Amino acid sequence: MELNKKPWPLATVCGVKERIDARPDFQRPPVWKRGQKQFLIDTVLQNLDIPKLYWRKTGKNPDQYEVVDGQQRLRAIWEFHDGQFRLSSEMDAIDGHTIAGLTYSELPDELRIRFDTYPLDVVIVSDADEDDVRDMFLRLQNGTPLKAQEKRNAMGGKMRDFVKDLATDQFFTSVPFKDSRYTFDLVCAQMTLLELSGKPCDVRNSDLNEMYASNTSFEVNGPTAKKVRRVLSFLKTAFPEKTPELERYNVVSLYVLVSNLFEKFVMTDREQDLKKWFLDFETKRSQDEALPDANRDAELLAYHDVISHSTDNGWSIAKRYDVLSRSFLIAYPGIKQKDNQREFTHEQRMAIFRRDGGRCQVRLKCDGAECSWDNWHADHKIPWSQGGFTVVENGQVACVACNTTKSDS
Ligand SMILES: [Zn+2]
Repeated sequence: MELNKKPWPLATVCGVKERIDARPDFQRPPVWKRGQKQFLIDTVLQNLDIPKLYWRKTGKNPDQYEVVDGQQRLRAIWEFHDGQFRLSSEMDAIDGHTIAGLTYSELPDELRIRFDTYPLDVVIVSDADEDDVRDMFLRLQNGTPLKAQEKRNAMGGKMRDFVKDLATDQFFTSVPFKDSRYTFDLVCAQMTLLELSGKPCDVRNSDLNEMYASNTSFEVNGPTAKKVRRVLSFLKTAFPEKTPELERYNVVSLYVLVSNLFEKFVMTDREQDLKKWFLDFETKRSQDEALPDANRDAELLAYHDVISHSTDNGWSIAKRYDVLSRSFLIAYPGIKQKDNQREFTHEQRMAIFRRDGGRCQVRLKCDGAECSWDNWHADHKIPWSQGGFTVVENGQVACVACNTTKSDS
C-alpha cells in the first residue's frame, strides 16, 4: 500500500467528479445536514484548514478513485459548486464582502477564485486491496464511532454479502421505518441469525457480530439462505403495500412465526390469512391498550411488556412467538399439519420401487426411464410441503432429471 499526499485545488476536485466514486460499499450513506455543509464552505472561504481526504486509486487512464474518507466533505463541496445550496443567511462578511445567502455563482469574483484555488489536502492510496482499505476506513472513523451495522458492513465476507443483498428485497418498501444507517441490513441479519439458530435466540449486536465473523464463507445459495428468502417472499406477498403495523420488532416476530409455521404446517396460499390475522391482532392489541389496567387482557398485557424494551433479546422473541403462534392457530384451526415424517424409510422405498417396477412415474423429462436402485428419488405425489403424507400410497419413483425439474417448479 502506498500513500501520496498532495494539494488539489477545489476547481480540479469539482472537475473530476465523474471519476470519483464517493460511495463505495463500506461507506455510510450521506448524513450531513445543511448547516454542516454551510459551515464547511465558510471554512474554505475564510481560508481555514479542513482535514485531509483519503482516496483510493482504482483505475488508470484516466485515473479513477473511490473515497475512503471524507465523503461528506466532498459532497458538500460538489453540491455548493453545483448551486445546490446557499451560504447561511447568518454568515458574517468576509474581507468586506457581504455573502450571506449567496450561491457559488453569485459570489464576488475574489471569493469564487478563493474557493476554486483552495488547496484540499488529498492522500491518494494506491496498491491497496479491499481489506487494506476497509481497515483504513475503520481506523479513520475513530472518534466518530460507526453504528454497529455500519461496522459489520465494513467487515466483508459472504454473510455480509448475503445480508446486504437481502436488504434490497422489495418487502422493505412495505415497512414504515427507514433504512437510516443500514436498519434493513440489521433486520436481515437478525432474520438470518434466527434461521441459523432454528429457534428464538438473542439477536443483539454482539450476537450479530459473532455470526458475521464465524460465517465468512456462508453459502449464499445454501438451504438456510433459501429458507430465509422463502419466508421473506411469503411476507412480501402478504404485505405488498406500505403497512404501518410492520414496526421493526413486528417484522422480526413475523419472520420467526412464518419460519416456524413453514416447518410444521401447510402454508400454501396462506398469505392473505396471515395478513388479515395480523392486522386484526394489532387492532385488538391497540384497543386493549386503551383500557384501564384492571380490565386488560392478561396475555396482551404481558405481550406489551416484551415489545416495550429489549426486543432483541431471545426471551422477548420467544414470548412474542408464543403469543403470536397461538393466536394464529386459534384464528385458523383448520390449518393442515405436515406429516411429522419427512423422508420415506428404507422399507417404504423398497415397496415403492418394486411397485413401480423401478420406472420413473413423473415423466416430465423422460418417458418412464428405468432407474437403478442406487440412483432414484422417492417422490411425494402430493408434495410434503403441501400436506402430502409420507406413505407408500403417496410415493412414486422419480428419475434424477424429473425430480430436479419437479422440485424446481
Ligand atoms: Zn423421469
